Amino acid sequence: MAGAETLSGWGRIGRPGRETRSEDLAAITAGARLTRGLGRSYGDSSLPADGGTVAASPLADRILGFDEATGLLEAEAGLALSEINRLFWPRLWTSPVLPGTQQVTLGGMVAADVHGKNHHVDGTFGRHVERLVMRLADGRIVATSRDREPDLFRATLGGMGLTGHILEVAVRLQRIPSPWIWSESERVAGVDEFVAALRAAAADWPFTVGWFDALATGRRLGRGILMKGRWATAAEAPARPPAPKRRVTVPFTLPGWTLNRASMWAFNQLYYHRHPRRPRRAVVHPESFFHPLDVIHHWNRIYGRRGFTQHQCVLPEGERPGAARRLLEELTARRGMSFLCVIKDCGEEGEGILSFPRPGISIAIDLPAGPGIQELVDALNRRVLAEGGRIYLAKDTFARAADFRAMEPRLAAFERQRRRWDPEGRLTSAQAVRLFGDAP
Ligand SMILES: Cc1cc2nc3c(=O)[nH]c(=O)nc-3n(C[C@H](O)[C@H](O)[C@H](O)COP(=O)(O)OP(=O)(O)OC[C@H]3O[C@@H](n4cnc5c(N)ncnc54)[C@H](O)[C@@H]3O)c2cc1C
Repeated sequence: MAGAETLSGWGRIGRPGRETRSEDLAAITAGARLTRGLGRSYGDSSLPADGGTVAASPLADRILGFDEATGLLEAEAGLALSEINRLFWPRLWTSPVLPGTQQVTLGGMVAADVHGKNHHVDGTFGRHVERLVMRLADGRIVATSRDREPDLFRATLGGMGLTGHILEVAVRLQRIPSPWIWSESERVAGVDEFVAALRAAAADWPFTVGWFDALATGRRLGRGILMKGRWATAAEAPARPPAPKRRVTVPFTLPGWTLNRASMWAFNQLYYHRHPRRPRRAVVHPESFFHPLDVIHHWNRIYGRRGFTQHQCVLPEGERPGAARRLLEELTARRGMSFLCVIKDCGEEGEGILSFPRPGISIAIDLPAGPGIQELVDALNRRVLAEGGRIYLAKDTFARAADFRAMEPRLAAFERQRRRWDPEGRLTSAQAVRLFGDAP
């Protein structure tokens, strides 16, 4: 997502800025104010605060070591998850956490402390990280872990690149019985039923997630498809390893009117009714299960020139039953349009000071940018605040500092660590200026 003099995140809302790429990440991070990976965060978290240059890691992608006995993978921070999947799935190892796209780097996975469909079992990516090598704001290169500068380690997991540049990551992969997925899916009638179904499924399934229809109203509000899965046993799986999926490309930015209420409604109807009434069971390709949208290269172009954002929050549904429904009611009352909505239950909070997930229900809603988007995000954030929830920085573009501060009592602890490791405030991002009050 880099143009001549503009940069953007996945939501394609451009800002002035440039990136420098090199295989020598240590060299390009010296003096840099931010490092980015593949730019799959939606908003401005990987964008420069001052329209200047950010270091970009994707060319620094060497594997430095792999221990067959322990599963410990050591690699440069620019290594993409797609490469880890390609190399390790056929060898019966997997990344312990797989977010919805595999076009992310190790550094981006650490900095956002990403979660996957197994959050209720395996927590965030950071739980499996053993060690980081970082370049600090003052230029020093240090190793950090749970035993070595543990405060820096905790602040960096989910710290959105604001504590230092991650150069290398050591993460423990997991053994799998086969590289295929045994999956089961079923229709769910509405949002309250979804919350209950996710909870029930969590007891038996390591992977759970739901797609829901945010345009349906009344009793059907939040109806959708629940997907559950586990790694298939060797006996269930095809003998061959899964070949990387072929991709189709959205060739150009579509006109803004392509996505409107009617087309989204039609898509949602089709998606819901295409699924049989009874549960569907099958052995499926791991990419189709974990990264379904990756088969459409540049799918973000369908939102047109204005781009889009995602609003993702986690609501402590256990403490406040009905929180997920109230959020969707807010969305539909304001005629918010979205056709890609994801619901997931979250397990325990991670170690990262600012890590996103906490016990509750996570809801992710893609929203076209354009007139009214700021007011809509404000309204959703007021609801998140009222429910005692929080938003995910990796998806955010429009939150206001006051709302973010009010939902993040952990911010003060995070800022203390930032001041300790970067007393002169050299490291920053466009998002940190907007939300944390950094000087550009
Ligand atoms: C289709 C789609 C589905 C997604 N699904 C999920 C999901 O299921 N779960 C989830 O948790 N997330 C999900 N995400 C978000 C994505 O996983 C995160 O935004 C991730 O951080 C992107 O990685 P990246 O390498 O592209 O990082 P970028 O977007 O380039 O950067 C993200 C942040 O990490 C920092 N950063 C990146 N590399 C470094 C480094 N080497 N050193 C220091 N800081 C660094 C940046 O400064 C920035 O703050 C999804 C995104 C998309 C587009």
